[in-house]
Amino acid sequence: MSLQERVVLEAERRFHARPNLVVRAPGRVNLIGEHTDYNDGFVLPMAIDRAVWIALRPRKDAQVRVHSLHFDQTAEFSLNRLEHGKAGWLEYLKGVAWALQEAGCQVQGWEGVLAGDVPLGAGLSSSAALELATARAFAAVSNLPWDPPEMAKICQRAENEWVGMNCGIMDQLISATGVAGHAVLIDCRTLETQAVPLPPDTAVVVLDTATRRGLVDSAYNERRAQCEAAARFFGVPALRDVDIDRFDKSDGLDAVARRRARHVVAENARTLQAAEAMRRGDTSELGRLMNASHVSLRDDFEVSSSELDAMVACAQGQDGCCGARMTGAGFGGCAVALVRAEAVGGLVTTVANCYQTATGRVPSIYICKAAAGAGVEA
Ligand code: ADP
Ligand code: MG
Repeated sequence: MSLQERVVLEAERRFHARPNLVVRAPGRVNLIGEHTDYNDGFVLPMAIDRAVWIALRPRKDAQVRVHSLHFDQTAEFSLNRLEHGKAGWLEYLKGVAWALQEAGCQVQGWEGVLAGDVPLGAGLSSSAALELATARAFAAVSNLPWDPPEMAKICQRAENEWVGMNCGIMDQLISATGVAGHAVLIDCRTLETQAVPLPPDTAVVVLDTATRRGLVDSAYNERRAQCEAAARFFGVPALRDVDIDRFDKSDGLDAVARRRARHVVAENARTLQAAEAMRRGDTSELGRLMNASHVSLRDDFEVSSSELDAMVACAQGQDGCCGARMTGAGFGGCAVALVRAEAVGGLVTTVANCYQTATGRVPSIYICKAAAGAGVEA
């Protein structure tokens, strides 16, 4: 049974009536452009064929009542009195309701069943998927116009200010604007998006190291502060405004700030080059850029880990692997590899064995297709 069928069936069982709406919003994997989003730079993610689904029907009052299949828990809140609570997953829904209200939207109540197959906390952005699915549900029951970039900004605000996670715009924007078969080049300053076709005869393989680091939040905030300081040094609003030439000629940044800034400046250039390579169908150039991105994240931005490095090395060592890099904030989580289609089956087994031998850990491996962004399903 598909997840869509499951949420519909569970909603029927729990609410004794057919839900009249089903919404879906995907997770994502970033192909290249890491730690560039909060520097007003470029990212090149794709929405994946793993998503959060909600089957729902409107209510006449201001209650939102939701059952999560993952947590096997029913919870509710009133739109008239939004307060922080204990059930972690419900805070994402409340946060979206709050941010919609802050944006001046009149939101209506609903009840529904929620499920997803984006692994939680693995770096594939199940949180953005949950936020966009929630926003899509509110928009549908409240007759709000669906403007994907606007909704992404509202969901980012929910995560930043209600949940308290200081993320950039990438995750919400790609969940909102994904295009099947394509990655999306996002200009994080203007929020302009361009769909870029994935190279034919390749697969995107997500390699989860099965490690998670508690340190991520503080290290992430520290990197953001370092980038902002470097932008002030150059006298620009964000590192996006510094090109490699200007960076190379500059003098006076301390060694650590210099490495951080070099990653961001070079990664922005690589991301634009990667989109160009994809448009030309130049798979080997795209792979080379992914490999270079990993080195830069490891040595200059210093957000990799021994497990991520081991996973990337295992993938890069396989026939048919065009390129591989850590993806997401770092210190744990996933790597991503671009693999020739005919080599995928063999690569999955050999990389799993290689990584297990190197680290003693059992990885999870997901072969992903590029999917469409958040929507109401027929
Ligand atoms: P990531 O976004 O990398 O997957 P986060 O820690 O940002 O990890 O978000 C994970 C949280 O999002 C979960 O702990 C849960 O609260 C919520 N969440 C995501 N998917 C679901 C789901 N299918 N059902 C309920 N809650 C979910
Ligand atoms: Mg998240």
